[in-house]
Amino acid sequence: MEEYYYPLSRYFRQTFGRPVRKVSVDAGFSCPNRDGTIAAGGCIFCDNRAFSPARRLGIGSITQQIDEGIARVSRRFAEAAFIAYFQPSTNTYAPVDRLEAIYRQAIGHPKISGLAIGTRPDCVGDEVLDLLARLSRETWLSLELGLQSSCDQTLAFLNRGHDFASFLDAVKRASQRNLRLGVHVILGLPGEGRRQCRRTAEILADLPIHSIKLHNLYVVRDTPLAELWAAGQIPLPSLEEYADLAVDFLERTPGDVVIERLAGDAPRDFLLAPAWSADKNAPRQAIERQFARRGTRQGALAHPKGENPPMGG
Ligand code: SF4
Repeated sequence: MEEYYYPLSRYFRQTFGRPVRKVSVDAGFSCPNRDGTIAAGGCIFCDNRAFSPARRLGIGSITQQIDEGIARVSRRFAEAAFIAYFQPSTNTYAPVDRLEAIYRQAIGHPKISGLAIGTRPDCVGDEVLDLLARLSRETWLSLELGLQSSCDQTLAFLNRGHDFASFLDAVKRASQRNLRLGVHVILGLPGEGRRQCRRTAEILADLPIHSIKLHNLYVVRDTPLAELWAAGQIPLPSLEEYADLAVDFLERTPGDVVIERLAGDAPRDFLLAPAWSADKNAPRQAIERQFARRGTRQGALAHPKGENPPMGG
């Protein structure tokens, strides 16, 4: 079957020699964009319960969460290796010695082969990056930075509490330590059309980034975004419009960048819109159809690093 992009499953097989599953771990971290340090309301789309089974069901110890996560999938993925994925909230937002103790609990689990750590670009000080660099010499490790958009106006609308410059700074300091870097981007944000989507892809293509997660904007209940959406102020792309944006983005993404996700997926009981986001397979199928229609693939329009049009072009 034709492969239009470089999926995480292929990267994992190449790297570990077998399938790998991520097990979501919630260490109970807060977020400076929620606890009042940067802001109190958080990003307008965020409800961490939607990202975290542990937060919905009650948080157990890290070992317990890993055991339960593995038990849930081990019948279907008997041969798999497992990565502990520190997913909800800001997973570098604690003193470094506490972070190290938490990460080491996960690494010390006999079935865990690596760590993926999701965080904000403004929560990776040099001490944190030094810790991650040390750990990455002991185990596979990926640092995932939430960017969402390269446009400062959009970041302000989302109440992200950081700008694009802080993301660039984090990428520079992480790459100086040879860390494996992933980036989260949302396509189809209000006020962003195809031009901005392409621009974000071109900017990221020039950076030392190893993987990308694409998300569509979806609305979950009890968030500021839900209020705006209910008031008719948030246009959401249709499935085919989203696929168009995603293919625009992927055509400009170098072929060696791993695509970890093609769209977000919220639990059905939290999701308000768009309805198509409840079907996990629909975005992948629509994106593959769009690639087939265009006769292209990931990287088809990517420039060599450093040769993208200048910012604002
Ligand atoms: S930075 Fe992450 S955890 Fe914090 S409010 Fe935004 S989406 Fe939520």
